Amino acid sequence: MKGKKLLTGLSVIALCASLASPTFATNSSNGNLTNPNQELPVVGFTDYAEMVKRLQQIEQNSQGLVSLEVVGQSNRGRDIYKARVGTGKKVVLIESEIHGNEKTGTEALLSILQHLGSSNSPQAKKIREEITLVVLPKMNPDASELDRRGNDLSWAEVVERFPQLAEASRPAWNYYASGVRQARDYTGKPGFDVNRDFNPDLNYVPKASDVPGASNRPGWYITPEAQTVRDVYKSLKAEFGKVDVFIDLHHQGQYYVEGTDDLVTMSLSADFVPDPNTPAGAKYAQYKDNYNFEYSKQLNLAAYNALQSLGNNSPFNNITLYDQNLDLPGTALGSFALNGSGTVLFEVRGQSHTLGQKKKGQLVKAVETGLYGIINGVADGSVEQLDASKYNQIPRTSYSPGF
Ligand SMILES: [Zn+2]
Repeated sequence: MKGKKLLTGLSVIALCASLASPTFATNSSNGNLTNPNQELPVVGFTDYAEMVKRLQQIEQNSQGLVSLEVVGQSNRGRDIYKARVGTGKKVVLIESEIHGNEKTGTEALLSILQHLGSSNSPQAKKIREEITLVVLPKMNPDASELDRRGNDLSWAEVVERFPQLAEASRPAWNYYASGVRQARDYTGKPGFDVNRDFNPDLNYVPKASDVPGASNRPGWYITPEAQTVRDVYKSLKAEFGKVDVFIDLHHQGQYYVEGTDDLVTMSLSADFVPDPNTPAGAKYAQYKDNYNFEYSKQLNLAAYNALQSLGNNSPFNNITLYDQNLDLPGTALGSFALNGSGTVLFEVRGQSHTLGQKKKGQLVKAVETGLYGIINGVADGSVEQLDASKYNQIPRTSYSPGF
């Protein structure tokens, strides 16, 4: 996910780079952002073919505990997989790699599936009894294989599928038609930020008058990847009445825990759209009875507390809140929060163009720990006992060290 924070971060970096010697940019923690041709190794991460093989093995070895299903195809025809484990009444839906250069979430999901699909520990049994865990790992596989943020889809292809959009004066605002973004050149291989293509109206049909849109406007479900997630969400809603929890796994730039020189390991958030029950969220009033900000805060706290419990002075203590007071209804989180899901954003440090696979083990462990905090807390009901007001005590994020 990228809110205004990264833009601010980029502008700060650009400013620093112009004032300092050229070597400053590459030596700073964010320096690679100004070095568009840098290719850092990512072979340590599970690629698409390896993921498919691993998912199939997990299903085969699970004695019926894990079921795998192809639920859609990416624009370039790669199957999008859904894995499901557990038979409980509470539904937890998690997706990874909606941005293909943000890879730790997939690793954490595979590890969790492997564990819950094979362990006979009382804890694993309890989770399987209380929860239905549904995961969509690498849900934007074309972007993952290109190791970039955007999918692999042209505006012409969109118009072919939605001819009514030919009347739009220009493509959607989240279209990367050309040029370099996060060190990847989209010239000749355009794509969309899929995480701006969601709409809280799950039955929305694209209209030319809603294009190009804007960050504070809903998306259109014009990408096959967002359509697939929407369809899974709708099917779970039909089966269970609601999707209790939705978690989206991302990476961000490199930032600091406010007031310190500690690099943030992960940021969390429950806040993607203004609360429909407040004047600021009046435009979302039709969703006010669904929206449950308190529960989202409790879920975030469950992740935060689990990470804090790993001990003082560990990197897992460097957890902050992501930018708050956003208005991003085109994100999966924003749209699903308005549909009543408790929502949690994970943003671990460094996309692959700045960090490659460095810190992979630590960052995957952070994601996994946070996810288990939520899963266990939902399974045993302890999440609902958490004091939501403590959410605001989670440290904030800073763009520069604060000694
Ligand atoms: Zn992201």
